[in-house]
Amino acid sequence: MRLRHKPHALDLIAAHPQFVVADPQKGKWKEEFGNNNPIHIEVGTGRGRFIYEMAKANPHINYIGIEKFSSVVVDALQKLIDEEVPNLKLLNKDAKDLTVFFEDGEINRVYLNFSDPWPKARHEKRRLTYKSFLQNYEQVLAEGGELHFKTDNQGLFEYSLMSFSQYGMPLKFLSLDLHNSDFEGNIMTEYEEKFSSRGSRIYRVEAKFPL
Ligand code: SAM
Repeated sequence: MRLRHKPHALDLIAAHPQFVVADPQKGKWKEEFGNNNPIHIEVGTGRGRFIYEMAKANPHINYIGIEKFSSVVVDALQKLIDEEVPNLKLLNKDAKDLTVFFEDGEINRVYLNFSDPWPKARHEKRRLTYKSFLQNYEQVLAEGGELHFKTDNQGLFEYSLMSFSQYGMPLKFLSLDLHNSDFEGNIMTEYEEKFSSRGSRIYRVEAKFPL
């Protein structure tokens, strides 16, 4: 993600705590949304198109987009300012602290879309499918919770399949070419549109945590 300096990003975020939750309260997300609906999160939400469209399409699911860079999440915030969607919140936080923001079992699904590949071996721990991240997802997910992952990066996809398998996670709906598969209802992310328009194949898989 190319980062552009946006001097007003932090001010805009601070002015909209109803959209970008400043002080997430572990165990209080149902209160935050004002209902008991399931909660799905996207880790590394970027400019937010996926989570915004998912929230509009599925009003009975609550969504939280987590993005560590304020200069990026501010674009997702702008979408909410332009047209409010009550079942979507944003978090301008690093997902390494997921268990600080969410109670055990508070989440029902995790989405990872076009995560940074970090191809160098010495950066393996930064990949969002590295085992320490899987441990965090497992902790915050309710029983039967799933991880849905898509990417254009073959190396990251292969690495992630290995990482899920080593963690004992059964895999389903594995696609090596999502856009030429029979998968219905795909919502494109900003990165997905960019890379698929250049001819890249999109890989996708769903993984469960062992019971
Ligand atoms: N999901 C979006 C898409 O498909 O268009 C953005 C993809 S972009 C390549 C990856 C995003 O993940 C970046 O905005 C990056 O800042 C964010 N990210 C990476 N590691 C993160 C972490 N540990 N916590 C929160 N966000 C993270």
